[in-house]
Amino acid sequence: MAYVITEACIDVKDGACVVCCPVDCIYEGSRSLYIHPDECINCGLCVSVCPTRAIYDAHDLPTELREYERINSEFFGPAVTALGSPGGACDVGSTGIDHPEIRSYTRQ
Ligand code: SF4
Ligand code: SF4
Repeated sequence: MAYVITEACIDVKDGACVVCCPVDCIYEGSRSLYIHPDECINCGLCVSVCPTRAIYDAHDLPTELREYERINSEFFGPAVTALGSPGGACDVGSTGIDHPEIRSYTRQ
C-alpha cells in the first residue's frame, strides 16, 4: 500500500511534497496532487514536509478520509487521466485534470 493525498491539499498545492519525493510519483491535477499507488515506495518523506498534513500512509487513514485511497488510485485510470504508470511526474507535468470528486469538492 502507498501513501495517499487527502482533502487538505485541495486548492493549496504548494508542491513541497513533489520536491522531496525520491521517485517522482506525485502527480499534479488542477486542484490537488495525487500519489501513484504503484510507484510510491512508502518512504514517508512527503508526510514530514506537508504544511497541511494532507498525506497519510493508507494504513493510517482516518475513517472520514478513506475514500482518498480510491481517489488517488482512480486518478491514473481510464475514467480520469488514463495515465497508467508513467514512471515519473516530471515528464507528465500538470495534467489540468482532477478526479471528479475533487473537481466537485466544496471546501467546508
Ligand atoms: S511516501 Fe515517499 S515515495 Fe511515496 S509519495 Fe511520499 S515521498 Fe514519494
Ligand atoms: S505538501 Fe501537502 S499541501 Fe503541499 S502539495 Fe503536497 S500534499 Fe498538497
